[in-house]
This record gives sequence, C-alpha cells and structure tokens, in this order.
Amino acid sequence: MKILVLGGAGYIGSHTVYSLIEQGSEVVVFDNFETGHIEAVHPEAKLYKGDLRNRAEIDEVLDKEKNIDAVIHFAANSLVGESMIKPLKYYDNNLCGTKVLLESLVEHGIKNIVFSSTAATYGEPLHTPILEDDPTNPTNCYGETKKAMERMFYWTEIAYGLKYVSLRYFNACGAHISGKIGEAHNPETHLIPIILQAANGTRDHISIFGTDYNTPDGTCIRDYIHVTDLAQAHILAVKYLLDGGKSDIFNLGNGVGFSVKEVIETARKVTGKEIKAIEEARRAGDPAVLIASSDKAKKILGWKPEYDDLSTIIKTAWKWHSTHPDGYATK
Ligand code: UDP
Repeated sequence: MKILVLGGAGYIGSHTVYSLIEQGSEVVVFDNFETGHIEAVHPEAKLYKGDLRNRAEIDEVLDKEKNIDAVIHFAANSLVGESMIKPLKYYDNNLCGTKVLLESLVEHGIKNIVFSSTAATYGEPLHTPILEDDPTNPTNCYGETKKAMERMFYWTEIAYGLKYVSLRYFNACGAHISGKIGEAHNPETHLIPIILQAANGTRDHISIFGTDYNTPDGTCIRDYIHVTDLAQAHILAVKYLLDGGKSDIFNLGNGVGFSVKEVIETARKVTGKEIKAIEEARRAGDPAVLIASSDKAKKILGWKPEYDDLSTIIKTAWKWHSTHPDGYATK
C-alpha cells in the first residue's frame, strides 16, 4: 500500500508511520512541524514540509505522489486546555485545514481517508462504557472541532464519494517498543509523560487536577491505550476501506479505566521512583470518567490491542522518557 500520512511527525502519526513501514507499506509524510518532530519521522518515509491550510502545499504532494491508496489524517492541534484558551486556533487548524485538505483530495480523486477523532467528542458520558452512537456534546473546544470534522467528512462523502473512517481515541500513551520514538509535546500537558518527567528529574512533581470528582478516589478516570495499538487500528481501518467497507466511526480504548492516582501509583512501581504528587484544583473541561467500548472496532476491523496492561504501557513510556529526558533534540 502507498499511504499519505498527514501529521506523520507527531506522536500518534509517527508511531503509525513506523508500523506501516514495518509492515511493508510505502509512506509519504506531510507535516508543518508546528508540533511534530523531524527526528520522529521514519528514515524510510518520503517527507514533505507543508501546512494543510495552504492549498498549494498539499496540492503539490498529491500532484507528485501518484497511486496513493489512502490518506491518514493526524494533522491537528489536540490539547484540551489550550483549546479552551485559544478556540479560534483550533477552528483554524483543525477545521480550516481539513476543509482545504478535502477540497484537494476530492480534486485529486482520493477515495479513502482515516482520521483521528477523540473521546472528547462525547463530553460527559451518559453511561459507561461509551458506545459510538452515544450523544456527542463536547465539553471543550478541541472535542467540538473534532466533532465538526466528522460531520465535514460525512457530508463530503455524500457529495463526492470520499469514504472515511473516524477513530475516536481515548487516552493515547506509551512509546514504540524500540524506545526510538515516543511522546514529546511542548509544552507537555498529558498525564503519563508529566508523571515520568517527575520520575526522570526534569520536573519537580505531578499536579493532580481535582480530587473531588464523583469517582472512588475523587480523581478523574481515563481509558489508557497504547500508541502502537492505535497505530495498528489505523492500518486495519485503511484495509477495511480498501476492501470495500463503508464509512464509519470507531472507539479505540482498552475498556478499562484508571484514576489519576492509580496511574501515579503504577508509575511509582514501574520506575522505582518516589514521584512527588500535589493535589490541585480541577482543570477546565475535564469529564470525570471516560471509558470506551471498543467492541465495534474489534468486531468490524478485527482490532485487538496488544498492550492491555497499564504497567506494560508505562514501561514502554519509561523506556522513552528515561533515555530522552528532554524529548527530541530539536524542541
Ligand atoms: N491530569 C492531571 N495532571 C496533569 C495532567 C493531567 O491530573 O498534569 C489529569 C487530567 O485532569 C485528566 C487525566 O489526567 O483527568 C488525563 O489527562 P490528559 O491531559 O493526559 O488527557 P485527556 O484526558 O485530557 O485527553
């Protein structure tokens, strides 16, 4: 297969590129390097630097790269907290970028796309675990833009026949088994990397955002899913579309929830470090509990997460964070 990966220098994008190449695909990466890292791009991938909001830059790739079987779209801003402070940045990159992309894909006759969506499309869930046809009422602007992206794909298919799979990730975490690539956001806001930065000494402590949620220990519960398992789901989704599957939406999670305090405790065991934790106020926009039902992805895509144990997931992340305390060299 020849796959164009948009945002292939980012966290989930770079892991998906590794998995695609490991499994024999030809990969073209397009990234604006606003949040991605050049060192995260697999050396065998063909790389284009460009921004989706610039029609000429994506057109150039699609003009030059013939016979692309499918596109995987990760190119977006994805920080819940930032989206509450800078909502228009999220509308601009996530929605304007996707609109330009879709115009170009339609014009170039691309027929299949898999893209990242998020559990944040649901907002406060009505029940646990969350199913794909549950109501979507995002509590933050990031989730709102991803929900709007899904609708953009829905109407684009009706008009132009571009088929899509939307993958709603729960909490992506962990790192490539080799330790060569891993999670490195700047600034880092995600729980597991921050805990491991407190363990590797690049940060003093982890702040626990809210201890008064309606959960057994008062801290938020999330469904943590390994990035390589997410990568595999994208590959299966591409194959599903190429085999004639219809456009659809799938949750991706392990179906098990861990509280912030449980994650910290597991990280203490895995790393053997003390890891100082300080209890603080809630962060805006955080639902109390998010746990996926991924039965649909398992049944229809044949997806089977391999890293279904939190200690193993944190071990892979620790391999990365303990050897790359400052993340990638360039940022
Ligand atoms: N969290 C925390 N301290 C941090 C970062 C995150 O307590 O420094 C909490 C956050 O409030 C949420 C959970 O950890 O309940 C997971 O947050 P993350 O940002 O990793 O992912 P999200 O669920 O927002 O996608």
